[in-house]
Amino acid sequence: MSDLRKIILEENEIPEKWYNIQADMKNKPLPPLHPGTKEPIGPEDLAPLFPMELIKQEVSQEQWIEIPEEVREVYKMWRPTPMYRATNLEKVLDTPAKIYYKYEGVSPAGSHKPNTAVPQAYYNMKEGVHKLTTETGAGQWGSALAFACEKFGIDLEVYMVRISYEQKPYRKLLMNTWGADVYSSPTDKTQGGKSILEQDPNSPGSLGIAISEAVERAATSGGTKKYSLGSVLNHVLMHQTVIGLESIKQMEKADAFPDIVIAPLGGGSNFAGISFPYLHYKLTEGKDIRCIAVEPASCPKLTKGEFRYDFGDTVGLTPLLPMYTLGHTFVPEAIHAGGLRYHGASVLVSQLLKDGLVEASAIHQLECFKAGVMFANTEAILPAPEATHGIAQVIREANKAKEEGAEKTILFNLCGHGHFDMAAYQDYFDGKLEDHELTYDELHSGLNELTTPKIEE
Ligand SMILES: *Cc1c(COP(=O)(O)O)cnc(C)c1O
Repeated sequence: MSDLRKIILEENEIPEKWYNIQADMKNKPLPPLHPGTKEPIGPEDLAPLFPMELIKQEVSQEQWIEIPEEVREVYKMWRPTPMYRATNLEKVLDTPAKIYYKYEGVSPAGSHKPNTAVPQAYYNMKEGVHKLTTETGAGQWGSALAFACEKFGIDLEVYMVRISYEQKPYRKLLMNTWGADVYSSPTDKTQGGKSILEQDPNSPGSLGIAISEAVERAATSGGTKKYSLGSVLNHVLMHQTVIGLESIKQMEKADAFPDIVIAPLGGGSNFAGISFPYLHYKLTEGKDIRCIAVEPASCPKLTKGEFRYDFGDTVGLTPLLPMYTLGHTFVPEAIHAGGLRYHGASVLVSQLLKDGLVEASAIHQLECFKAGVMFANTEAILPAPEATHGIAQVIREANKAKEEGAEKTILFNLCGHGHFDMAAYQDYFDGKLEDHELTYDELHSGLNELTTPKIEE
């Protein structure tokens, strides 16, 4: 049993419930604050942007939340996803560690993101919403939501960070194929976009700016459009727990249980997706398990940011969230892992990190691409640049296990394939990529501008 190479589940083993970690957290996350009044917000403040069911999930303290049958039906197109034992990688590393990975790149959009895009589109459809707006960085989230909206008959408007819009035309075309309208952000369709363009007509855009535009479009639509976010929020993280829940069943089949769970972190959703169902055992039974979120060294909110209230977008339209942040005006280097270039981390992951229940690691991009190429040459799957951060950490842990002669079991989330990211690999092969050590001034450029409440220890 224990030397299975590929561990697959039956369709009827797709989870029937999502796991809501809020129910098990001793220190509950602090409430989001209204951007104007700085008072805790209520459901009515979020109602212009989100359907009521998602707002309920956002604050729910129920441990398990039923996955609607219609959502599971769509999940069946690619779920359950496979889990593999990385035997070839283990051999090359000559490590006593057992390495397993869950592969989310088999989804239609090629990443974990459809796990939340589908329920979000579904709940909007159920509540009579016909149009959604969203932002996308490199295009992973935009294409996931375009796919989901197509399934439930919803029109989608995507604000895509300009530099990616210009450099990554294929993700845009994928969104177009699934029927979405895609705009290069900053646009002149919003006040936020116009004011950025006035300051800098050549602005390359950023995720924070694109969020401002998508939120503004929904908020000023008089209720005709709602907004959808692909990470960070509690309900998004919860939807992703199907990854970890499936992997627990797969680990059982392999007669194993992880000592270490690893995933890259942009906003926190794929890390939460794989790690929260394991943290359930740590929180309720005191099980000893290390969960490590890996961020790029050029956008190190978890390892070098501050835990304080900050906006989710650049303009300051979203509620203030208590999170590890580099400041909402922080502009990271143009590293190739577009999905990890976000200034803050989700409230839930931030609270867990603050409480010492999860760990964080920051890795430079050259080590990540090297790990990605090693992975492609051993396990054959070409990882997304974001995913290579997880792989680099796995290699570090496997090498440590070798030094210590420890038979660790490591599980990581291979959150997407890199087939649309070959230009990044090209730059790596051409020697064009460099590591960038953030200076003190760069690190504080965004933090110094924050005027929002600091969170006392
Ligand atoms: C979006 C994305 C990420 C980072 O986002 P999280 O919210 O942290 O999950 C990582 N990998 C891939 C492939 C992505 O598309």
